Amino acid sequence: MKAVKVVGYHENLKMEEQEPEPKIEGALDVIVKIGAAGVCRTDIHILEGQWEAKSGVTLPYTIGHENAGWVHAIGDAVTNVKVGDKVILHPLNTCGLCKACRLGDDVHCSNGTFPGINVNGGYAEYLKTGARSCVKLDDSLEPADVAALADAGLTAYHAAAKAARVLRPGQVCVCIGAGGLGHIGIQVLKAISGATLVVVDQNPEALKLAKQLGADHTIEADKEGKFVEKVKELTGGQGAEAIIDFVCEGGSMKTGIQMLQRAGNYYIVGYGENLDIPTIDIISTEINFIGNLVGSYNDLQELMILAAQGKVKLHTAKYKLSEFQQAIDDLSNGKVRGRAILIP
Ligand SMILES: [Zn+2]
Ligand SMILES: [Zn+2]
Repeated sequence: MKAVKVVGYHENLKMEEQEPEPKIEGALDVIVKIGAAGVCRTDIHILEGQWEAKSGVTLPYTIGHENAGWVHAIGDAVTNVKVGDKVILHPLNTCGLCKACRLGDDVHCSNGTFPGINVNGGYAEYLKTGARSCVKLDDSLEPADVAALADAGLTAYHAAAKAARVLRPGQVCVCIGAGGLGHIGIQVLKAISGATLVVVDQNPEALKLAKQLGADHTIEADKEGKFVEKVKELTGGQGAEAIIDFVCEGGSMKTGIQMLQRAGNYYIVGYGENLDIPTIDIISTEINFIGNLVGSYNDLQELMILAAQGKVKLHTAKYKLSEFQQAIDDLSNGKVRGRAILIP
């Protein structure tokens, strides 16, 4: 089969034409015929070597961690899917037996593999995963429409749903950033929460999209930080009950914190910036900082329900698998609208 592999760090990906197809080895193995694989910024970070020490993967290996397709073969003990089923794959293949798994906290599984990160992934015709990672798709959804929701969308859902669980109708939630993750988070919040949604972004185009997706207020993030005052005005001088920061880079947290109400929650989704705040400010106001890492199997299943209801839609740019380099280049150069996906 064809598979696109990482052959070295700081080197281009390479297409292998004669890669052996994965085989069923364990009783819970599932082999999926890939229908689409999302191209993610993490893939670029992998090529830059940022994940080398963390993943410990042996090169060469097949990249691609946002996958959806059709079940091609199953192990003897698999009962939740059958050959031919349309599925999206939770990015981790988890064990089901460790403490985290038993708590439903998939991303902290102590025996999991992460196809595309530490074992072969989905820039290929076939991928091996396990029964526990398969989420069946509604008839109305196609792999190419949803593949990129397996990571980016899942992360946005996880954070937005966490915020929605404690937000009361009419309380204010500020989303910082309405890009790839942010535009999913906005749709999720509008679908499951009665909170008033304020979206802050530097890009007027992104704000236009946010408004179309249902944001109650959109505010342009100016360099002088006047948007902080605008959020204060909207909240009677108090600040917002929740901030979901999809950026956390270039000073977004530094200004973001100023928009947070006493005892409010600051959800960290993006990364890059250091959190620098006097601890006395944290204890005296009882504000909370909450990290977010991908999402659980249940999160992905719930997100697929919203997708099937037409409440969460993803804008995609399609490329053939053989055009992998173009897709990576376009993403690096900021030329992709929505999410790039590869179709074998
Ligand atoms: Zn990703
Ligand atoms: Zn586990």
